[in-house]
Amino acid sequence: MNTTVRPTNGARDDGERIDNIFGIDVFSRSVMRKRLPKDVFRSLQRTIDQGEPLDPAVADVVAATMKDWAIENGASHYTHWFQPLTGLTAEKHDSLATPDGAGGVVFNFSGADLVQGEPDASSFPSGGLRATFEARGYTAWDATSPAFLVRGDNNVTLVIPTAFVSWTGEALDTKIPLLRSVEALSKQAMRILKLFGTDTGVGRVFTTVGPEQEYFLVDRDLYYKRPDLLTSERTLFGAKPPKGQQLEDHYFGTIPPRVLAFMAESERELYRLGVPVKTRHNEVAPGQYEIAPLFEPSHIASDHQMVMMETLKRVAPRYGLQAILHEKPFAGVNGSGKHNNWSMSTDTGVNLLDPQDDTHTNLQFLVFLTAVIRAVDLHADLLRASIASAANDHRLGANEAPPAIISIFLGSMLSDILEQVEQGLPKRTLRGGTLDLGARTLPQLPRHSGDRNRTSPFAFTGNKFEFRAVGSSASIAWPNTVLNTIVAESLDFVATEIERTQGAKPNPVKLQSAVLGVLKRVIKDHKRVIFDGDNYSEEWHTEADRRGMPNLRDSVSAFAVLKAKKNVDLFKKYAVLSKTELDSRTHIAVEKYVKQLGIEAETMTSIARGQILPAALKHQRMVAEAVSATKAAGIESEDGSAALREFVDLVSRLRRCTTSVETAAEHQAADPHEHAVQITGELKPAMQALREVVDELEGNVAADLWPLPSYRDLLFLK
Ligand code: ADP
Ligand code: MG
Repeated sequence: MNTTVRPTNGARDDGERIDNIFGIDVFSRSVMRKRLPKDVFRSLQRTIDQGEPLDPAVADVVAATMKDWAIENGASHYTHWFQPLTGLTAEKHDSLATPDGAGGVVFNFSGADLVQGEPDASSFPSGGLRATFEARGYTAWDATSPAFLVRGDNNVTLVIPTAFVSWTGEALDTKIPLLRSVEALSKQAMRILKLFGTDTGVGRVFTTVGPEQEYFLVDRDLYYKRPDLLTSERTLFGAKPPKGQQLEDHYFGTIPPRVLAFMAESERELYRLGVPVKTRHNEVAPGQYEIAPLFEPSHIASDHQMVMMETLKRVAPRYGLQAILHEKPFAGVNGSGKHNNWSMSTDTGVNLLDPQDDTHTNLQFLVFLTAVIRAVDLHADLLRASIASAANDHRLGANEAPPAIISIFLGSMLSDILEQVEQGLPKRTLRGGTLDLGARTLPQLPRHSGDRNRTSPFAFTGNKFEFRAVGSSASIAWPNTVLNTIVAESLDFVATEIERTQGAKPNPVKLQSAVLGVLKRVIKDHKRVIFDGDNYSEEWHTEADRRGMPNLRDSVSAFAVLKAKKNVDLFKKYAVLSKTELDSRTHIAVEKYVKQLGIEAETMTSIARGQILPAALKHQRMVAEAVSATKAAGIESEDGSAALREFVDLVSRLRRCTTSVETAAEHQAADPHEHAVQITGELKPAMQALREVVDELEGNVAADLWPLPSYRDLLFLK
């Protein structure tokens, strides 16, 4: 069994290629190998690969070397870079230079500077973890994620990935729980490998992630003319253009030259930063694109994902563009997701979700697969919660993105094998065969044994799962933390069940029947989560309901799940999050939801009163003048007067709807969760009603009076 995964910077045997081809901006393993004394290099590799504690003497040498490398490349400052619970990244720069007391400077950067920082953390959301008066928070160097240089027009900064922890030892960031969840999964996965005797030479198991990022590009000048895009990254008003995506002529279409130039420059920057970007194409909606990297160990993929989003934002203005990462910038047009491709790998490079040719005999694969199925069924609520946000609410289930019901697509080959396991001993693996294209000059293509299913939120795609419900603007750290934790729990369960049947001496025959027995039970108990049909259909909603699967339609009900005892216990048991740490995250998520909707509501009413109403009144006057001028000319026009009356009614509706949003926004329960419930029940419908009247006005007011760039202007780039 050997399908090698190709890890990049994070794991063994990496980095080299990226380093050689794309430049110098990563303090990668090969840079370290060249520059560090041999024993220091080896010691550091042991820390990176095996998690050995870092020797302080080693840290001093690494720091000095890193500093020299950074300065040679033009760096003047360094920063500990971390991912606080805002869901964004944070950095505070310090100069590498210090006055030497004799009118000059020395460059100082010690092991202590490298290993630990203490930003004043009081203004980051901590969800009650720390009060301002005890604001100490520390950043700790994450040696497993390579440092890199960020270049500005006249500045270069050495960026050191770190974890962020409070004085009391609680995780204040998204990285620590992710690392803990990988540990938890590794421990349980190793037990399975041990049972099968495939653990020889394996030090640990980690998860691999390749996130495909969808985004929109709009003209930057127009972007600044839309206060809603500026404050909320989504249009709060906008009538649908006559031509949207109906013709499906944008998807995989020719990339416009300006966009391609932007993509090429973003990719070049990303390569230099060690992010292995690979794929680019037009997406389904006009103005929508995708960028995807090669997969990496999950915590590095997660760091790189943040770098990728920031790079897209930074480079776009150079081409007169604005990159929009919001899940649903335009109503009635496809939204953006982040397909989180996920698998498990040994540190020797074996992908544990690779079915191999004779899948039905590959019991170890079937164990890992079944453990994932069980995990997703048992903890669908948690997975749903891990992707909940105000923005993703607009996208999930909108007939273009998976519904909020979390189910798994396996494809015919695996579904068939699981059925066989349920019956007894599996005997065959369905083959895809070859596709004959009917023209002799074309090659015969090997065919996959199952088709794809773009509608599934959690699809098996050959040798990995693709979690497709993740939002485009979200950090992938949290969904992966949840995924790793629930799978760790499931592997634990399966390992315990199998171990129970084994005597002191391993016996292959006994093992096979024990494994099949356990798999059979697990499949029987959890197969309801498997669904290969159309997830967008109404029938599926009814069917899922019949199967008793959770359908948490909006974020607010999904957040509530994080309070459930089952989930609190789960995170605690696998030492991923304490109850306090989990509570703080829930609190922050709810608070963010409330704040975002508050901002959107205020933006809406200010646009409605300040821009839409004046335009509408101008138009009203124009119509009124036309009606009276017609009358003065001695012509009776009944429909003219009727049109005026209708328009006047529309304008009164605009006023009423604006007031309703203002009133609803004033209702603010003291408890954030209650406030969020109020928003879903009261404010959101009021906002929707206001939107409808404004969109209707857009179709009725003279185009030259309309104060906002239209969807047509925004979606079709010149
Ligand atoms: P698509 O799903 O569009 O067919 P690919 O299968 O090539 O495209 O891969 C999509 C993403 O999945 C890429 O980022 C790729 O690196 C990633 N990927 C491939 N194999 C794995 C794996 N074993 N673990 C995690 N991600 C993977
Ligand atoms: Mg894909």
